[in-house]
Amino acid sequence: MSDTAEGSRPPAPNPVKNIATPTSIARHGHESSQIAQPSTFLSPAQNRAMQDKPLSTVDKDQQSGLKAIRDFLKIRTSYDVLPLSFRLIILNTDLLVKKSLNILLQNGIVSAPLWDSHTSSFAGLLTTSDYINVVQYYWQNPDALNQIDQFRLSSLRDIEKAIGVLPLETLSVNPTRPLYEACTQMLKTRARRIPLVDIDDETGREMVVSVITQYRILKFIAVNVVETEMLKKSVSEINLGTYGNLQTANVDTRVIDVIHLMVKYNISSVPIVDEDNRVLNVFEAVDVITIIKGGVYDDLTTNVGDALGKRAEDFPGIYTCSEEDRLDSIFDTIRKSRVHRLVIIDEENRLKGVISLSDILKYVLLHGAEDG
Ligand code: ATP
Repeated sequence: MSDTAEGSRPPAPNPVKNIATPTSIARHGHESSQIAQPSTFLSPAQNRAMQDKPLSTVDKDQQSGLKAIRDFLKIRTSYDVLPLSFRLIILNTDLLVKKSLNILLQNGIVSAPLWDSHTSSFAGLLTTSDYINVVQYYWQNPDALNQIDQFRLSSLRDIEKAIGVLPLETLSVNPTRPLYEACTQMLKTRARRIPLVDIDDETGREMVVSVITQYRILKFIAVNVVETEMLKKSVSEINLGTYGNLQTANVDTRVIDVIHLMVKYNISSVPIVDEDNRVLNVFEAVDVITIIKGGVYDDLTTNVGDALGKRAEDFPGIYTCSEEDRLDSIFDTIRKSRVHRLVIIDEENRLKGVISLSDILKYVLLHGAEDG
């Protein structure tokens, strides 16, 4: 299938310098005459009524497509997702936080498993949330700023305690277990990535094999499950994503205030809109890493417009879609491009909603599952 119009730009003005290039996925016609409305799925009473109603072809195809994906995830393991050859960067917990930032940036990665060499054991995953915690810590304790050069990765858990956030679970999965389990674990814990930890046959010790992300899993599905073509329902029909209580900012908002928003609502991106709610850009949790590199925590008071203007030239852009876009075309986009999320916009480029990768994974795994 090639129904993705990559490279086309929504028409809205982009006042932000060096703005991401929004890529719109192709729009598809509604097939509302053939399909049940999304509200039909919302309440049990309506669900019962729905069961009495004969399913349309589109409904049946949608169910078959979802079943094919779930069956596939049950027979594949997390090992299967890994490419034949890959690199793994593991950071020692004795490393300085500042150095870890540079290592991530130099290697073009945004997270890494941690290793405690004192106990020779896996010590959790370093992610952008950890750096955001450090930012929050310094924001609350400006006097501690002079200690910044001394903090080690092992102190991250103390920082969590100091700012009162719940410690992230040092969750992991065995790579030989079905991929379906890794997916359900991710959804249960809201982890965006999960380390694969196996036991070394010879030493009997833990061994970090790799890390799998929601994107890798969704791409694995998109590449291997041809039945994703059967998912012809539109985003609005299946109510995919979040539409209400959307957290946004504008180009003049301070970076630190956007970070507070992300922490408060436990979200990893905030659309940047103009006064007419037109989408100009998206501030992502990973942008924080670039902003604080070199320990320049003062930059957090600069505004979002200036901060995003400093994004690297090769920034891939943000992805948008309309409410009429169908799940099959979203999978097509995932197959072709490194999508982090999709911002739902209308014809005027106004913000309608956000579809995160976890929204897609959740729908694919859980929608209607309780009904068999
Ligand atoms: P990631 O995008 O890092 O892969 P994720 O898939 O969990 O992680 P989040 O951005 O953390 O995505 O989204 C978590 C939930 O919050 C999703 O249901 C998503 O629709 C919703 N959401 C995302 N961004 C916003 C926002 N700006 N305002 C309100 N809700 C949002």
